[in-house]
Amino acid sequence: MLIKELIEKKRDGLELTFDEIHFIVDGVTRQTIPDYQISAWLMASLCSGMTEAETAALTEHMLNSGRRLKRCTDRLRVDKHSTGGLGDKTSLILAPLLACLELDVPMLSGRGLGITGGTLDKMEAYPGYRCDLSEAEIESQLRKIGCVITGTTANVAPADKRLYAIRDVTGTVPSVGLITGSIMSKKLAESLDALVLDVKWGSGAFMKSIIEARELESSLVRTGRRMGVITTSLLTDMNQPLGRMVGNACEANEAVDIMKGSGPADAVEVTLALGAELLLSTNRESCPEKARQAIASLLQNGQALHRYQEMIEAQSGRFSEVLPIERSTVVESKNSGWVVSLDGARLGNIVIAMGGGRRSQQDAVNPGVGLEMLVRIGDRVENGQPLLHLFFDGAQPEIDALRDLAREAVGIGPSQKPGPALIVESA
Ligand code: URA
Repeated sequence: MLIKELIEKKRDGLELTFDEIHFIVDGVTRQTIPDYQISAWLMASLCSGMTEAETAALTEHMLNSGRRLKRCTDRLRVDKHSTGGLGDKTSLILAPLLACLELDVPMLSGRGLGITGGTLDKMEAYPGYRCDLSEAEIESQLRKIGCVITGTTANVAPADKRLYAIRDVTGTVPSVGLITGSIMSKKLAESLDALVLDVKWGSGAFMKSIIEARELESSLVRTGRRMGVITTSLLTDMNQPLGRMVGNACEANEAVDIMKGSGPADAVEVTLALGAELLLSTNRESCPEKARQAIASLLQNGQALHRYQEMIEAQSGRFSEVLPIERSTVVESKNSGWVVSLDGARLGNIVIAMGGGRRSQQDAVNPGVGLEMLVRIGDRVENGQPLLHLFFDGAQPEIDALRDLAREAVGIGPSQKPGPALIVESA
């Protein structure tokens, strides 16, 4: 087989076979195909689109380019994956919570790149927290505690590591087939029984339109099911941050609030809905109300929080219910009206500008910066009313510039607009 012929075939809009995709993934992993030819195939795949069979083949070969985690207990193994959004801290809560229900959760997560934060960065807000557990350490922790949040090991989907690095610099990230292969090869390497996906759409998400998000949702779900994992999903709103807090330590603190039985209603609702989805799909519960109650009671009675602390300490982190955050600055409204939009891209870029996120993979993050939203779409605001807090300890001119940017992120109009539905539908 010649890689040039496969690139041409894809360029001409033809479907590659299972074996042809194997040839490419094998060449990516063994480094026998150079970056420029991989880039050409990626661009052809982005422009021509990928069929369901191609996406499934890509996922399977990427999964098989590395190793899967071993099954090390008799318990069912589950996970939740979010396509990412501003203020999304539900993974921090669900991993320990599901472990309290005798489910194993081997959550292999990623770091934030661009406006959406990464679960590993949030966990590293706890000083000393290790995200580099070996497979043996993951197994041992699952046996003892039932949950782990760590980075993918070097052996998990190595083809994805090289492919993602090339996609990142060649403008080929936003292909539904390539995203599906990338996400699902890593999730399937966890050797799961069931997976719930939180596919987010809106200004603070990867997928800006609901149509794109639906397409990604359907591709992820079909691929998971094809590979024999019980896969369900929720399509959720990201036209405004989830909860009030955005930023690594800020979000970890808010996750703790939720695990103490309080916290903002929207973040609690998404947590309950995703957790319930897994209890239903694994037949742990047969009725949605009972499933939600099972999740809610672990938030109310402190068990999820206790398990969270155990997990952090097992991974060498120093747990504290309230992590320190930077000095607060209020951003006030300059007019009266109704909040009609919150620009997630702008808010996310403010967090990056303060040092709370990455523009490139090597950037360090400051866990203590972030913001707190004081208004939501549909709220009435008056001139001078606080809209949000910025947590940033910079020079005054820099703070003033960020304050202006943050004010511009809050769209204020003359009439009330209802907030978007939080959970659109599930598959
Ligand atoms: N997250 C991933 O892991 N891969 C993608 O391609 C996009 C988001």
